[in-house]
Amino acid sequence: MFTTVSSHVCRHGQGKLLLRLLVLKNARLCNSNSSIGKGIRSYATEHAHHEARIENIRNIGIIAHVDAGKTTTTERMLYHSGRTRHIGNVDHGNTTTDFLPMERERGITIQSAAVTFQWPPKSVLLNGQESKTINLIDTPGHQDFRYEVDRCLPILDGAVCIMDGVKGVETHTERVWQSAHLSNIPRLLYVNKLDRDGASFKRAVQEAAARLKTWPLLCQIPWWQKDEFVGVIDVIHEVGLRFSKNSGAMTVVPKETLATHNPALKDEMEKARLHLIDKLSDQDEGIMEEYLERDINVSSGTIKKAIRRLIIDGEAKFTPVFAGSSLTNIGVQPLLEAVVDYLPNPSERPELRLITGSKTVTFSEFMETAPKKKGAPHQKPEPVLSVSHVFKVVDSGARGLMSWVRTYHGSLSRSSHMWNSNMHVFEKPQNIMHVSAKDYHDIQTLPTGHIGAMTGLKQARTGDTLLTFPGHQAQAPEAYRSVRIKAPETPPAVAFISIEPYTKTAGDKIVDALQRLSREDPSIRWHKDERSEQLILSGMGLLHLEIAQDRLLTHYKIEKETAIWGDIEVEYSECLFAPTRPHHHEYDRALRGVAGRAACTVLLEPLKACHHDTLLESSIERDGNVIHVSIPLPQNTDELPFDTETVRQQLFNGAIAGLSRGPRRSAPVRKCHVHITFDPEKDWSKNSTGGHITNAALFAVRAALKEAHENAQVGILEPFTNFTIHCPEEASHAIQHDISSARGGQVMEVRKPEEDDYSGSVDGQGGERIDLTRVYVPPDPYEGVQSLRDEGKKMSGSVRMLHIMGKAPLKEMMKYDGHLRSMTGGRHTLTLDPGEFELVTGPREKALALEG
Ligand code: GDP
Ligand code: MG
Repeated sequence: MFTTVSSHVCRHGQGKLLLRLLVLKNARLCNSNSSIGKGIRSYATEHAHHEARIENIRNIGIIAHVDAGKTTTTERMLYHSGRTRHIGNVDHGNTTTDFLPMERERGITIQSAAVTFQWPPKSVLLNGQESKTINLIDTPGHQDFRYEVDRCLPILDGAVCIMDGVKGVETHTERVWQSAHLSNIPRLLYVNKLDRDGASFKRAVQEAAARLKTWPLLCQIPWWQKDEFVGVIDVIHEVGLRFSKNSGAMTVVPKETLATHNPALKDEMEKARLHLIDKLSDQDEGIMEEYLERDINVSSGTIKKAIRRLIIDGEAKFTPVFAGSSLTNIGVQPLLEAVVDYLPNPSERPELRLITGSKTVTFSEFMETAPKKKGAPHQKPEPVLSVSHVFKVVDSGARGLMSWVRTYHGSLSRSSHMWNSNMHVFEKPQNIMHVSAKDYHDIQTLPTGHIGAMTGLKQARTGDTLLTFPGHQAQAPEAYRSVRIKAPETPPAVAFISIEPYTKTAGDKIVDALQRLSREDPSIRWHKDERSEQLILSGMGLLHLEIAQDRLLTHYKIEKETAIWGDIEVEYSECLFAPTRPHHHEYDRALRGVAGRAACTVLLEPLKACHHDTLLESSIERDGNVIHVSIPLPQNTDELPFDTETVRQQLFNGAIAGLSRGPRRSAPVRKCHVHITFDPEKDWSKNSTGGHITNAALFAVRAALKEAHENAQVGILEPFTNFTIHCPEEASHAIQHDISSARGGQVMEVRKPEEDDYSGSVDGQGGERIDLTRVYVPPDPYEGVQSLRDEGKKMSGSVRMLHIMGKAPLKEMMKYDGHLRSMTGGRHTLTLDPGEFELVTGPREKALALEG
């Protein structure tokens, strides 16, 4: 009944698109009959992705709270693009991107995985059309793995943010949205799980506006038939898209057919289109003109171009919204169309920014000003052949350490002699590879804008910048020596586990594994406790450390019986109450037999929120501290006899080491603002080595901390967590009482979900107010009779649920889920989101002192 494209629809200039949609519908059928290999198809036969032109590349990430459906959506994308022949399922542990045994057992994503596919599939391309190569990264959604998301986001050019249609905007969704914002990543929103009972597209969109602070541009509205979610209405092209649940085959339903069979839905579609055009014409002159000329008949092409222009800056003032249910194969192909249509290719992104000394400049500014040969300011700039960024290091077992890179300028090949401007070494890759979930395929070159992996780099770490130059120099040209792309911040650890090896051999093996593990995941730190000789492994929470322990045992083959493994405990830290005096320290002992001398002056003060507003670009932020180094230029010279960047790094390293153990509990020091002054005339001499400079900073910081402790100016901090408990109303009083009296927590808000109010306005991402009452969203199906149905349910004994929100010490909440179970009979959900480190006072401080 719905399959033909009627000629009068084509009159509106949309025939070509409909034709394409129809071809896509058949594409899936072609793919499923194909006889090429099993599972993920061979790279060589399927793609020559590295040959794709830059305009045809989309580097995108899928981001959201845990369980929103990221991996399921990725799996469906792979299938519908023809990249895989079978649909894997998270619940059966057989998806392409969750390939680690731990991920399959637990049904959650732990590490980000990269896959590549073509869209539209080559088999359905129209004459002259080219497929786009989509490099997609499926990210983990649990807050403990947020570093994994934070390190991948900056190298992406666009992201699809998924919302659970039942749960709406969840805490981690807000967090990753904010991270995407920091890297100016253009985004699409996809409201998933609309097949589930209790799903509400309306609430999801309203929450997106209110909590993500973006104006939703509804490109689709859901198509419900009675209680069943059957497809989506494409508001821009004015067609219905219906999907077969098993194969996902898509049927295009023209507007006229909709008008006959479902006039209310057709009217809603027109209303949605009008709202969309209205909003766009406020912002975009092109559409405004066409709107005035043609009234509502603005062409779909014009609308799409306007949307693209509005989101490309990554500010997310506006966000296109799509609907679907990935599990039941609804809405995935149009979402892929949207990725191709709206998200930018690498050449459309803002220019790469580089940190040079204390400044951040664009690549072209840098090329114009800095890199002239020394002593020859009129010479042409020294060329740089390529600039790329290591964003992840993975221990792949048989192939050894893989450094995942993204190229920003120029290309990399196997013979590339690469300068690592963070580690100050040249390295050469053994192989360059394309990554496809757990598989790697050798490639010859990695061109601009691409993502790949390299073996053979012994030193490269997450966040390092790699540069190549013409010829084969022994040293990088001076102007480039320390030029960097911003590295992701490693958040402070909040929990740790102690490991006590029985023998030295076992200890050595564990240390080696810990070194490799923390190289893979810098949000895992380890050190040897000097007093107890225990190895301390710290990370982002209970799950993070459980997974780390699992990886040590399974991947790094540590035998559990060779050591005593402690319980997972929270990591305390120390802080200052007041600024210290300036401490000058001169380090003049021999280091590894080399005599030398260096000095510096250090002043510490408590870090306040306002410091972040005035943070100098040359400051570094590490583990919750900010360190600033100043090297005043002597009056009679404009050139120093040492490389300031190298010295700055050595001083940073010394300060970081000094802050790693506080004077009270040997716990790391946090919330500290460190000012280091290095006077080239007094503190430096010809025999100052890197080690002497680092030690001068280390001992100066230690001396300042020691004196602060003697003056009772050092406090203990403990990690807090923000919690949301969704529980039956009858259990809520007992829970609130338990949290505030027995757990040292604070309840901030108790809310009935149905009382959420979208009648006010919020500050939008771009600074403009978003009047929530003006956000268009269609009513959910049978909204009018919903309340009657709800009443019916209540009468038959359904439970009223509440949200309790607040903050509490992580120590009390890490295992709170089990405790809640006894209070709610298991009818609750608990979400924890990282909070601040807070001062331990009163009875909690006394209890801590007794623990030792
Ligand atoms: P992720 O944590 O965001 O990667 O989420 P997953 O893809 O692992 O999905 C989490 C759970 O939600 C799994 O049990 C999926 O089967 C289920 N799920 C995902 N998408 C849908 C959907 O569209 N509808 C329904 N009903 N369940 C879904
Ligand atoms: Mg996942």
